[in-house]
Amino acid sequence: MIPDPDTLLIVGSIAFDDLDMPGGEHRNVLGGSATYASLAASLLLRPGATRIVGVVGNDFSESILSDLQARGIETSGVERASGRTFRWHGRYSDDLASRTTLDTQLNVFADFSPKVPREHRASSFVFLGNIHPKLQVDVVEQVARRKFVAADTMNFWISGEPAHLAQMLRCVDLLVVNDEEARQLSGIHNLVRAAADIRKRGPKALVIKRGEFGALLFDDSGTFFVPAYPLEDVVDPTGAGDSFAGGLMGYLASQGEVSPLILRKAMFFAAALGSFCVESIGPARLQSLGRSELSARIGAFARLVDHGGDLLRSS
Ligand code: AMP
Repeated sequence: MIPDPDTLLIVGSIAFDDLDMPGGEHRNVLGGSATYASLAASLLLRPGATRIVGVVGNDFSESILSDLQARGIETSGVERASGRTFRWHGRYSDDLASRTTLDTQLNVFADFSPKVPREHRASSFVFLGNIHPKLQVDVVEQVARRKFVAADTMNFWISGEPAHLAQMLRCVDLLVVNDEEARQLSGIHNLVRAAADIRKRGPKALVIKRGEFGALLFDDSGTFFVPAYPLEDVVDPTGAGDSFAGGLMGYLASQGEVSPLILRKAMFFAAALGSFCVESIGPARLQSLGRSELSARIGAFARLVDHGGDLLRSS
């Protein structure tokens, strides 16, 4: 099997979300970790190079899949099972800084056992969205010629499935988590120390997302930081973390290889895609986003952190 150099396989949830926002309630919004990550990555890859693997129920219309395909996402790995699609209901605080899960209905996701279609097993890059760590390992094993694997996880698996999570960590190159998850996983509050601890357990690189406070990358070349893009209007943070990870992996796959410099550039694409995600309810902004808008935001990001290169001269 010859590896496909610039292809990205994404596995995770595909969902309908009910979102209680300070400004109103939104029902049956398209969601899920794989959905957000694929929409973000597909902006950076040629049509068909972003491959989504997940499960939906009878209530998931063909037209939603067609919309994903129209964005260049290959959907032959989306299984249709009899029953209802995974549903998540969340309520955000008035300042959008925190959210509470009101209800999670696994539905067809409960028996999900991801099967990577034969034609996608030569994918070079793999993003394991937030699913049971055992299933994440199963997916990795199906992608024989993988070059670079990244994974996300959540508090539920960190506390509930430590053995499977430890196994998952041993087979990924990059872990992408938020600060709370990094602290919970390592048992260490200081993020620099937490990162060192987690990197000893498998992933050579670690990204810690900090929402509006940006994101940190830790790898063998040191520590790198990208801010969150300062936005006047944040509408809905749902999926920002998945869009960040999808943007990061999409950029890496577009380059066909990973180096410390490429990883650092990828952090900006990740942050830019995360920033677009929060500008609308659900993934609508990502679904309408064009490459020139993305490019303009990357430019704005570069200006945001460009201090001109001056260092303090020794007197
Ligand atoms: P994020 O805001 O990046 O954490 O991602 C939010 C998305 O994750 C929503 O669209 C949900 O449908 C999905 N989600 C919520 N809970 C779970 C879960 N337990 N497993 C998988 N996906 C989930």
